[in-house]
Amino acid sequence: MPLDYQAILDEINDALRPELGQEGKVADYIPALARVPADRFGIALRTCDGFEAASGDSNEAFSIQSISKLFSLTLALQRVGDQVWDRIGREPSGNPFNSLVQLEREEGVPRNPFINAGAIAVADRLVSATKSHAKTDIVELISSLCGDKVMIDQEVAQSEAANGYRNVAVANFMKSFDKFDNNVAQVLDVYFNQCAIQMSCVQLARAAGFLCRDGGHPYRGKSVVSERQARRLNALMLTCGTYDSAGEFAFLVGLPCKSGVGGGIVAVVPETLSLCVWSPAIDESGNSHLGRKALEMFVARTRLSIF
Ligand code: GLU
Repeated sequence: MPLDYQAILDEINDALRPELGQEGKVADYIPALARVPADRFGIALRTCDGFEAASGDSNEAFSIQSISKLFSLTLALQRVGDQVWDRIGREPSGNPFNSLVQLEREEGVPRNPFINAGAIAVADRLVSATKSHAKTDIVELISSLCGDKVMIDQEVAQSEAANGYRNVAVANFMKSFDKFDNNVAQVLDVYFNQCAIQMSCVQLARAAGFLCRDGGHPYRGKSVVSERQARRLNALMLTCGTYDSAGEFAFLVGLPCKSGVGGGIVAVVPETLSLCVWSPAIDESGNSHLGRKALEMFVARTRLSIF
């Protein structure tokens, strides 16, 4: 019998709503994120053949934060291809997302593109490849993927810049190893702005659609990335997409995922669907507490884990 996705998402929403606000904590390193109400939960999916289902606060826009790293890497793969890997690794870090420790040991080469150092290195590549239009190009790529014009929350972008001491350190540290081509402030402007993009679960489920379609655009006939690149993006999400908890996510959920400290998590079931869940209270590793629980329920109910 085909799965009734709408009923499954409603069931997850009904089951988890009573737990809202009980565990985890809304990110509070900048005021604009600290103000987000903890009592929100949304979930949305889009299948490869275009069926959509959504439940809860699935149309409410939130700060995508680190989920943007998925799209900036996609843009870099489009613009510079495999050269992206000259200066960025593909190993889980086993350290917090903003750590500098491994950067020293590995001489300015970030462990993967989904920790801050890696995403800042991707932004550096993008500044070179887009003739300084990286910010607009990221927004345009995401807008094209979800079919809506997405916006940057200027207050979040400015607070990220005002409080991003560690990201400034990371960028300068990479520059000190000669592994950075552009002006640090210019590159960080791209990074801080991409983190401040606002999207809803419905928009993110649509935007990630190319990852369950072998790189094919969710709405148009063309490819976003090649089949090989899509497979590799999924592999990176599985191994590095959920901060220092990628092992736990593989164990409990078993899907390629990318999370952000705004409480969103994008997940992919290759060849089948893309989904996004959002609930702002995050656990110690930076992943949405109820988001992870929702994904566990989703794979238990649908048996769609890749394992
Ligand atoms: N904007 C955050 C930072 O750069 C990243 C947040 C995230 O990991 O989602 O520190």
